[in-house]
Amino acid sequence: MSTYEELNKVIRDSKHIVFFGGAGVSTESGIPDFRSKDGLYNNRDVQFERYTPEYLLSIDCLDYEPKVFYEFYRQKLNVEGIEPNAAHKKLAEMEKAGKLDGVITQNIDGLHQKAGSVNVQEVHGSTLRNYCKRCHKKYPADAIFTAEGDIPKCHICGGVIRPDVTLYGESLPTEAWRNAIKLVHGADCLIVGGTSLVVNPAASLAMDFRGEHLVIINRDPTPADRMAELVFHESISKVLSQIEL
Ligand SMILES: [Zn+2]
Repeated sequence: MSTYEELNKVIRDSKHIVFFGGAGVSTESGIPDFRSKDGLYNNRDVQFERYTPEYLLSIDCLDYEPKVFYEFYRQKLNVEGIEPNAAHKKLAEMEKAGKLDGVITQNIDGLHQKAGSVNVQEVHGSTLRNYCKRCHKKYPADAIFTAEGDIPKCHICGGVIRPDVTLYGESLPTEAWRNAIKLVHGADCLIVGGTSLVVNPAASLAMDFRGEHLVIINRDPTPADRMAELVFHESISKVLSQIEL
């Protein structure tokens, strides 16, 4: 395994550092993996045993069983009161110090912005933004959680209010994805953290990197480890905390 001295040397030698993060960045803030059904309680006639987590976060579920979708969403995706951890904070510090071009994240919890990061490309959207499916009126972060009734409805047109997140069965937000690729192409150092790099788009984005220094931080080995200059199988907040600016 690589050392923190090596990491700091790479950081010093790099002029365009980009961070690309997955679920592991958020779990260290206490955000549960949505794939686990732990902590879910059957409510409002919804029996969660009947569904897979992927279905519960799919466009089909939203369209055809909205009551089920919103029951799962309300129980699982409310990030109110959840705080950024040391990894989010270090990345925000690095950007402020001119040492980081931007963050690309697969997470939908807005924690990078809460920590102070400015250039954040959310390739799966954000639970902090909502909009009406019919008239596209925007709604605040708590709209789904504070709505009356099973399904949140637009008070202008009566359409369903949905989160601005990429659901299973939907394509990625074009602009964020384009910006993410641009960041990766402009980087001489890509730090990948908290993603197993097994499924796309994570895997393809890492493969797109042509720069000099690839750093991988993940608790478990990833298929890209052998391509990386530095590999850490540790907590992301622990490793990033060691970066000296
Ligand atoms: Zn509307």
